[in-house]
This record gives sequence, C-alpha cells and structure tokens, in this order.
Amino acid sequence: MGAMITGLAACGGGKKQELAGDFRWIIDTFDDIRILRYQVPGFEELPLDQKLFIYYMGEAALAGRDILFDQNCYVNLAVRRTLEDIYLHADADRTTAEWDEFEKYLKKVWFGNGIHHHHSGDKFVPGFSEEYFNTLVGDNIVEAHVRRAIFDPAYLPLRVNQAAGVDVLLESAMNYYCNVSQREAEDFYAQMSDPRDLTPPSWGLNSQLVKENGRLFERVWRVGGMYSPAIERIIGWLEKAAAVATPAQRAQLASLISYYRSGDLREFDRFSILWVEDTESNTDFINGFIETYGDPLGYKASWEAIVNFKNVEATQRTAIISDNAQWFEDNSPIDDRFKKDEVRGVSAKVITATMLGGDLYPATAIGINLPNADWIRRDHGSKSVTIQNITDAYAEAARGDGFNEEFVLRKEDRERINTWGRLAGNLLTDMHECLGHGSGQLAPGVRGDELRQYGAVLEEVRADLFALYFIADPKMKELGLIPTLDVAKAAYARYMMNGYMTQLVRIQPGKNVEQAHMRNRKLIAEWIFARGAADGVVERVVENGRTYIVVNDFERLRGMFGELLHEVQRIKSEGDFEAGQQLVERYAIQVDPVLHAEVLERYARLGIQPYQGFVNPEYHLVMENGEIVDVEIRYTESYVEQMLRYSRDYSFLPTVN
Ligand code: ZN
Repeated sequence: MGAMITGLAACGGGKKQELAGDFRWIIDTFDDIRILRYQVPGFEELPLDQKLFIYYMGEAALAGRDILFDQNCYVNLAVRRTLEDIYLHADADRTTAEWDEFEKYLKKVWFGNGIHHHHSGDKFVPGFSEEYFNTLVGDNIVEAHVRRAIFDPAYLPLRVNQAAGVDVLLESAMNYYCNVSQREAEDFYAQMSDPRDLTPPSWGLNSQLVKENGRLFERVWRVGGMYSPAIERIIGWLEKAAAVATPAQRAQLASLISYYRSGDLREFDRFSILWVEDTESNTDFINGFIETYGDPLGYKASWEAIVNFKNVEATQRTAIISDNAQWFEDNSPIDDRFKKDEVRGVSAKVITATMLGGDLYPATAIGINLPNADWIRRDHGSKSVTIQNITDAYAEAARGDGFNEEFVLRKEDRERINTWGRLAGNLLTDMHECLGHGSGQLAPGVRGDELRQYGAVLEEVRADLFALYFIADPKMKELGLIPTLDVAKAAYARYMMNGYMTQLVRIQPGKNVEQAHMRNRKLIAEWIFARGAADGVVERVVENGRTYIVVNDFERLRGMFGELLHEVQRIKSEGDFEAGQQLVERYAIQVDPVLHAEVLERYARLGIQPYQGFVNPEYHLVMENGEIVDVEIRYTESYVEQMLRYSRDYSFLPTVN
C-alpha cells in the first residue's frame, strides 16, 4: 500500500532553502541508475529537541540496514562483505575496464540491497570474469555459494517469481521462507486466521517460515530471535529518541520497543494505532517490518525506515483533500454496497524526509499510506504522506532532460505538462495515498487475502484509478485544489503515455513487467486501449518512425477510469480471484517487444537513466562544554563513501542468520 511512484515528475509548493548555488542534484550514474541528493529545507529552523529526535531516529533508520539485505536473499550479506573487502583492500590496478565493471557491480549490489535488481528482481550479471575476480581475491577464501551467487546465472535467478503455475516460494530467491512450498505456507497461515476475529493480527508479518525435519515453524524477528543484533541497536536509538520526543511519540516508541522485544504482533497493532492517531507531532517516522511486496504471498514484511517532519505550508493542500474524504467516497463510481458509510480518520500531510533507511533506501517511495492492517484502517483510519523534498529532487534532476520533447507528440499536451505536470503529480500522489487506499470496503465474509499474488497489484490499480477519476472532477476546482481542468489533462496524457509506453524503459529486453506499481500502470493503460482505441478515445500515432500515445477525448477517458474502478473494487470487495487474475495476466505483464525496443532506443539517445535513488544527508551533533547544542546537516558524501560508511558503522548481523 505504501510505496507509490507516479510516472509524473512531481513537484510544487513549499519554499526552497537557499543552498550554495552549486548544489548538485545528480551525484552519480551507473548502469540504469541515477543517484540524487535531496535537500532538507527547514531543518535548521527546527527546535533543538526536534533536531535531536530526527538525529536519533535517523540512527535507528540506519541500524536495520543489514536486515533487508538478508531478507532479500540469504547470500546477500556474504556477497556484499566479500565485495567490500576486495574494494577496500585488494591490491589491484584501479584504472582498468574490468575494475570499473567490478565497481559497477558493487554499486548495483548496494543499490539493490542485494544481488537482485531492486525493481525487476532479476539477478545482476557481472561485467567481469571469474578469472579476474580470482586475481582480486588472491589467497582469500570465497565460499562456493558466494561465487555461485555472483557467477552462475541459473542460481537464485529471480528474487520474487510470480509467474502463473510455478510454486512462487520455491522458485523465488527471497529469504522469507526456508524449504517451504507455497501450499504449505498458505495452509500454515490459513490455519492461524480465525474468521470470527474482527481485529486479527497480520499473521506472519515479522518472521521467517521454516520447515525442518518435516515440521513448520516461525523464526520471529525480535530480541533473542532472528535479526536480534540489529534489532537491539535499533531499540537503543529509539530509547534515546524517546527522551526528546513528544508525549504521544513517547507512548508510540514504548510500544514499538516492546514489540521489537517480544515480536508480539498484537503489540505491533497497538503501536500502529498510537502512531496513526498522532497527527499533531511535527516530526514523524516509520521504523519496522511494514510492506509485503517482497513476499509473493504477501505475508512477510521487509524492514524499512523513514524520518521526517511536516511541510506545514504544502500540507494545506492535503488537508483539503482529507477534510473532504467523505464526499469523495460518496461520489466514487463504485457499487454502493462497497462504499464506506463513514470514512474515518484519513489524515494527510506533506512531509520533508530527513533520513531514508531499509527498503526506502536508496530507492524510495514518494507517497506512503499506513498502517496496512485492514481493521486498523477501518476502526482508526490511516495516515498518508507525500514526500515533497523527494519529488522536488526528481523534478530538479529532470529539468531540461528532453523527455517531453521526445515522447509527447502534441504541443498543447507538452505545454500543459510543462505548466501543470508538477501539481498533477503531487495531487495524484496525495489522492492515491490519502483517498484511494483508504476507500471502499469488503463484502461480509471476505477476508481480504483472497486475491493472493494478484492482491498487491490490484490494490495499486484501485488507488491509482481513484486518483485519476477524481483529479478531473469539477469538485477539484471548487475546492481550490486545481485552477483549471488542464491539470487533469496533463495528468491523463502523462499517465497513458507512461503506463502504455515510456515506463517500459525500466524493463530489460525480453523480460516481462514484474513490479506491482508498474504492473498497475500497465494494466490501466492497456485496459483503456483495449476498449477505447476503436472509439478514438485514445490513439497510438506513429510519426517519423516514432510511436506516440495520445488522448483524444479526456471526458470519456475519465468515464472509462471510473468503469474500471467499479470493476476492480468489486473484485477486491468480493475477493474474486479469477477475475483479478484475468485482468492482471491479460493486461499487466506481457511486453510488446517491438515497442519496447523503440522506447529503449529513444531513451538511450536522451541519456536518461530510468531508475533513481538517493544518498542521505549527514547529521552531526554539535557539542559545547559537554552539552549537545545543535545538530548540523551536511551534504558532502558521495554514493560510494556513504555506502562504505554505512557498511562499516551500521552492520550488526552475522553473515548467516
Ligand atoms: Zn499505493
């Protein structure tokens, strides 16, 4: 539910802190990756206790880094440490092409938090030979499975394999299950769920499921359990943060610490309720096992963290949206049976990120909506954020990169996108998170996990469609959120082009679309095309050998978004697995190889890397006479320096967990 990355270069609102004029937004590029730096405007003006809260929670956000590496694949920590050891100590000529390839591979492992691509889940292919690797290793011993992980393409090829008909656990390299088949895991958790429990814990969320000697059991991620050394460090920083926190945050941290100690998922729910109900504290955080995208069955959560404070000025925009949540729900184009009578506690704010960690680093979401537990959302509401200093960084980095000139055919569309694209992007994110995920309800007797491996994609589809449908509603003008419906036209033109065509740049030739948010966008765009192309609502135009996607009838396109939302909500509310599977398998996955090759070629000519991630700023305590008097923020580290420092200072887990 959390992560949502629109295809729009989103930005807008908020005052920018004046940094030295030579601030560089793009600080490194390699392979298909671009590393950006983000700014933290307003940090200097915060009171000291808030700066300290941000500092301590920032340390807690870094202390869990190893957990994610191990969750992604059991061999990741061993591979990372082997490569870093070579990088730091090998007696090698560092000016050769093979060394460059070695360095690039290590940069990719850092970026992917392991040996698989962060987005596609495909294993990286090293651009250097095993013979060359041997010269770097010298007399040091490298274990056979580490070698195989790097050099044998058939070993652990895909982090998450969701192909229809395969055992999605046994065929995936992720480390959430050990020797467990899909059937065994599904039975194990089906037995745990009690349909009479109206407030069920998220069973399986914080553990590895293992089969040993024919017996299934969970290794829980808690103090004294799996990942204990990292969790103990996290707790240490949470305790320090509690000392400078608001009373509401102190209660949250006490509960979170208790949960990290016991592993009790009901305690995690108590924490989540305290957290979602705190809309007053200026600083905020996520720290824990949150999102389940990395588990093909959707039970187990990757560890992630973010620390942030409120962007007060831009939050006025999201406040209008959340204050009118009931209106949107009542006017949603879905079956009345599936509408919420009372939308509860949808709070929304625009935030400034100060530290990204775990599964939000280096690649991050730009919008997050939590908690994920359906019953907490039903009874206590949800908290939704748009991370505007991150969307600002994207927009700054994209300035003048030639993308619109290359891919947008019509002048009027280009002009609308140039003028309104940033606002449109931020609004789509706001509405996706704050309204979309929070909307609708399940039919009686539906548990919510019936859609299995298609659930995550369809949930993103639902949230995107909600945002797309309403961004063109006259109500948006009435509320003062958009000055003109041109904002919606910019959003529609960009969305259709991205979903149908330009997002394919993120896929390797011959591969299909795997990632949930990309599948979501593809599903929507392809479904629209399948129905709307014959009527001329949307059109695929070829000019001078270039393919363009254009929208001819914005009004009818809006109607079609509403139609699809109606059906996807029905599928979710009724738990209609067959219909959900059909939509995803038919529209969301298969790539047209000819169009794909064209997009890759046009992108390559522009020289834009399709994926972006971030380095964090560095924070330093300023001491005077043994007292902390300030926290200083700096923007100096390179990508490599930061990764090596994190591996040196925040690596607390053994190689085998
Ligand atoms: Zn989402």
